[in-house]
Amino acid sequence: MIRQAKGKTPRRPPPKKPSNNQKDPVGVYCRVRPLGAEDEECCIEVISNTTIQLHAPDGLKANRNGEFKETQYSFKKVFGIKTTQRELFEDVAKPLAQDLIHGKNGLLFTYGVTGSGKTHTMTGSPGQGGLLPRSLDMIFNSIGPYQAKRYVFKPDDKNGMEVQNQVDALLDRQKRDSQTSVPKTPNTRRVDPEFADMISPEEACKAEGVDEDSSYSVFVSYIEIYNNYIYDLLEETPFDPIKPKPPQSKILREDQNHNMYVAGCTEVEVKSTEEAFEVFWRGQKKRRIANTQLNRESSRSHSVFIVKLAQAPLDADGDNVLQDKNQVNVSQLCLVDLAGSERTSRTRAEGNRLREAGNINQSLMTLRTCIEVLRENQMCGTNKMVPYRDSKVTHLFKNYFDGEGKVRMVVCVNPKADDYEETLLVMRFAEMTQEVEVARPVDRPICGFAAGRRQRNQAFKEELTRRLEERGGPVDGDCPTVLNQLLQAFPPLPPCEISGPNDDVTLPRLIEALEKRHKIRQMMIEEYNKTATMLKSVLQEQDGNILSKENVIQEQRGKLGEKDKMLQNQKNEIDRLEKKSKMLEYKIDILQKTTNIYEEDKRSLQNELESREQRLQREMSEKRRIEARMQGMVSDTKLKWEKECERRVNAKQLEMQNKLWVKDEKLKQLKAIVTEGKTENRQPQRPSREKDKVPPKRSASPSPAPSSYNGSQSSLSSLEPIYNFSQTVRPDTHFPRAGSVSVASCISEWEQGVPQSRRQGSQSPPDCRNRTQGLPDSLSRRRGRCWAREVPVQPADVDLEETVHWTGPPVRPLHRRSHSAGGERWVDHKPTTNVDLDTVMQPNIPNAIKVNAPNEKALSKCDKYVLTHQEVASDGEIQTKLIKGEVFKTRGGGQSVQFTDIETLKQETPVAASRKRRSSESGPDSEPMEGNWTDVETRCSVAVEMRAGSNLGPGYQHHGYTKRRKP
Ligand code: ADP
Ligand code: MG
Repeated sequence: MIRQAKGKTPRRPPPKKPSNNQKDPVGVYCRVRPLGAEDEECCIEVISNTTIQLHAPDGLKANRNGEFKETQYSFKKVFGIKTTQRELFEDVAKPLAQDLIHGKNGLLFTYGVTGSGKTHTMTGSPGQGGLLPRSLDMIFNSIGPYQAKRYVFKPDDKNGMEVQNQVDALLDRQKRDSQTSVPKTPNTRRVDPEFADMISPEEACKAEGVDEDSSYSVFVSYIEIYNNYIYDLLEETPFDPIKPKPPQSKILREDQNHNMYVAGCTEVEVKSTEEAFEVFWRGQKKRRIANTQLNRESSRSHSVFIVKLAQAPLDADGDNVLQDKNQVNVSQLCLVDLAGSERTSRTRAEGNRLREAGNINQSLMTLRTCIEVLRENQMCGTNKMVPYRDSKVTHLFKNYFDGEGKVRMVVCVNPKADDYEETLLVMRFAEMTQEVEVARPVDRPICGFAAGRRQRNQAFKEELTRRLEERGGPVDGDCPTVLNQLLQAFPPLPPCEISGPNDDVTLPRLIEALEKRHKIRQMMIEEYNKTATMLKSVLQEQDGNILSKENVIQEQRGKLGEKDKMLQNQKNEIDRLEKKSKMLEYKIDILQKTTNIYEEDKRSLQNELESREQRLQREMSEKRRIEARMQGMVSDTKLKWEKECERRVNAKQLEMQNKLWVKDEKLKQLKAIVTEGKTENRQPQRPSREKDKVPPKRSASPSPAPSSYNGSQSSLSSLEPIYNFSQTVRPDTHFPRAGSVSVASCISEWEQGVPQSRRQGSQSPPDCRNRTQGLPDSLSRRRGRCWAREVPVQPADVDLEETVHWTGPPVRPLHRRSHSAGGERWVDHKPTTNVDLDTVMQPNIPNAIKVNAPNEKALSKCDKYVLTHQEVASDGEIQTKLIKGEVFKTRGGGQSVQFTDIETLKQETPVAASRKRRSSESGPDSEPMEGNWTDVETRCSVAVEMRAGSNLGPGYQHHGYTKRRKP
């Protein structure tokens, strides 16, 4: 029942071990003041009674790339522009005043930029009293009747409170009265018009549950913190008009309970609202004077008005304050009007002022830092040091944040656009502050006395007065009626007049009466004491009961508080989670969108992939198809060619068989001729058919005489007669073709299309003329080849060259001499050096001009030229070559011979022939056999043609050959 704390101000236990683990967040309220001018741009909107929304002003929006920025901030409560001072007080300050009366501490401060309404909110103006006058009014309305006499409570110099005895208090009162001219009773004193009507009487309010059994006293202090110096605004300093003393700054100290206080700060005991406000106004005046004198800006200082309420229980009688310092409870309410929170740049400060302003800002910065660290410590369970000591303001507030009590902040905002950015900073600070928690103050323990003492005492005094009045006795406050009644109950005193010196009756009688009275009195005292003791025990018992009940109630309250706290925590948690969930929803939304984009990408890529795969597939199948087709084509072509080859081979075989048969026939005929006549130089008989066609010749026909052939050979295997035949007939026969051109090469040329052009060449004379210049390449090449192979190694080469040079090279397409339809005329050039070989087959050209050396006259008459040239072949035999050419007129009027063909006639001895045959039999694929066989075949074919055709001349063999080949 008796508080254990030994400190002078046992209002709360040391902060190290708080008795209470319940905490409440700092209550942050927002007050929006009206705009200065109606048409000003407004950037704050109250959207609910707990939320405001900030809109970036137009100018700022443009600066931030037109980004439209709206931010919402929530508070415990938001007060719009129409909020009255009273409404604000009811919500914000009333609970604090109530707490103060119940012995709990409170801190209330206004925060905001200059001009946002901090002072208006805290102090107000006449007719619109702010939180401060209203709080004072409420306090005095509540404790008015229970206030202790002045100087009963006396502050010590160490933030504690003492209780003076009645006599000392009386003496102090008398001293004060003699010193000041302040009227004793506030009712009669004059009210300063400057602060009159701050609160109208009808707005007066009262705290509930005021402990009537306590006695109260209110002390106020008023300090200013400017540039991190503390000044006492209530200090009485004798004013020296000649040399005004600058105000002395105060320092902060810590009392034994670790509470901070301003050492040596004036604490004025006030007994009424008016008196308190007058003191406040005095401080204000002093502040204003100092600001003017020192050229300071009031918006850059913090003003702190501290209301201290001392309370102590009445003694058991309920008459006087209990003379026990430990029973004194001191609570305090700090009302702080902070300096403008704007940055230095806003107040065009310079020099010292700038430095000062920097310091002011520094103190607010420290406040923000402290709040931040506190919040972090509380939320994260860290134990970082809170830098309270960095500035005087925070150092002074340390107890409130570290200890217990209620802390409330009114954030004042001006919705004008100019303040927007500063307001944003204010909002951020406010948001952060709301998350700081402060220990909830516990209800102070009740003293051991029974409640209602004051009332009983009052009632007793009233009753005494009444009775005394009834009895007509002296009605004096100090002599109650009950006492008179009691006095009357004693036996009356005998007459005490002494009759004479010998009167020994009166005195003894008086002594006896007095003794009786004394006895009665003793008895009464005993009785009274007995009753008192009894009553005391009963009362104590009752007290005990009440105490236990109160403890139970306390306990329940504690539990309730815990529940409240839990609820609050849960609410906060819910809020936090809601915020988080909103954030997450937003994130999910973004992720969803991103996912959609990726999925779309994926789909398109897959589509592309599919289309590419399809294309690939198509291309592959196409490729396979083409491959198959190509294979088919290859096999088709192969088959076709195989068939073709087979067909050709068969045709060739058939042809050969036919030829063989013809040769056989010829040989038979030849044989018949040889065996029949034995007449030399006899002309072979022409077949009748040929006779019709060929004009009769003067001399032996140049064509061979196949009709006179009488071959007996019928099979290819017996080639001997062919050789014999060739041996015998060759000199007489016109072999129309150069021996070096094989049948195989002719076939290949024919296959390459050469024969066609040659045929054309042979058929049409103009083409023949082109043989030198206009012939197809292949033919020219063949001719070139013939010359190269045959001519250069021959001795006749010189002649040939000479022949060519007689007339000079033709310079323009040569004009071949026209010849009669009956046949060409030949120049038969046989050099005299030629040896007569006595061969059977000699070239016999009808109508030819025979010359030993070429001459122009002969050439001019003919269009064909043949040179019979002899040479020794590699096998030692003489070989005759018929070099044929066409005669052309040159531009200069001369003649030119264009060699066109070489025919080789060769005589062989049978030995060589048989050897050749043997070699031909050696293998079917061997080149010599093929060559010999082809040679014979070619000659035979020519022979057949000659027989069947006309005197077309030595170059005609191809015609016959191609003609036969063409189908
Ligand atoms: P601060 O103390 O924040 O610098 P003040 O309290 O001095 O600002 O306010 C500046 C001006 O605005 C004063 O003239 C005041 O009367 C007016 N004012 C502030 N708040 C309000 C309000 N809520 N209603 C009406 N006027 C206000
Ligand atoms: Mg102000």
